[in-house]
Amino acid sequence: MGETIRDSALRVALTFDAEHPDRPLCPPDAPDRILDALDEAAVRATFFVQGRWAEAYPERARRIAADGHLIGHHSKYHARLPLLHDDGLREDVHEGAEAILEACGVAPLPWFRCPFGAGHDDDRVLAILRELGYRNVYWNVCPEDWEPDRTAEQVTDVAVEGSLAHGDGAVVLLHTWPGPTARAVPEILRSLRTRGAEFVTVDALEELP
Ligand SMILES: [Zn+2]
Repeated sequence: MGETIRDSALRVALTFDAEHPDRPLCPPDAPDRILDALDEAAVRATFFVQGRWAEAYPERARRIAADGHLIGHHSKYHARLPLLHDDGLREDVHEGAEAILEACGVAPLPWFRCPFGAGHDDDRVLAILRELGYRNVYWNVCPEDWEPDRTAEQVTDVAVEGSLAHGDGAVVLLHTWPGPTARAVPEILRSLRTRGAEFVTVDALEELP
C-alpha cells in the first residue's frame, strides 16, 4: 500500500505573478482576496513579484512575504526580456531585485519568471539570468487567467484538470490581479485537496519547467 500512496503523490505549486494589471477595471482587492484564501487554507504559494508593482504597493508586497509565501522575481518593468540588450537586462534585474527586497524584506534569489514567459527558451536571456544567480521558472498548467473573457469556473477547471493531467510536480501559472482568479482560488484549493493534492512552493520540486 505504501507504493500506492507514493505513486499517487500529487504535489502542486501554485504560482502567482504579482504585477500591474494588464487591463483597467480589475478589482483592486484581488491580491488581498487571494492571500486571504491561501491563508485560510494554510497553503503556501510562490509569488513572482514585479519590481515596479512592489514599489507601488509595498504593503501588499510585504504581506506576501509575511504570510510565508516564497518570493520570486518578475523583472522590474515587465518588458519582454529578449528585447533588452545585455546591460539593459542586467539593470532591470538588479533594480527589480532591489525594489522587491525593499518592499518585501526578502531577496527574490534564485527564483525568476520571465514576463509573458518571453525568454524562457532564449539562451542569451537564460545565461544572463544564471550569471546573476537566477533560475527561470516556467509553468506546466496555464489557465490563461489574463484573458478578459475568462470565468472563475474556467480558471478553476483548467487549474484542477491540468494539474491532475500533469501529475506530481505541476507548476500552475496564475496572476494576482484578475477578478476571476480571486474568485477561483478557494475552489482550486478545495478541489485539488479533495483529489489528494499537496501544495508546495517551487523550491520543494526537484524538477521545474
Ligand atoms: Zn507577468
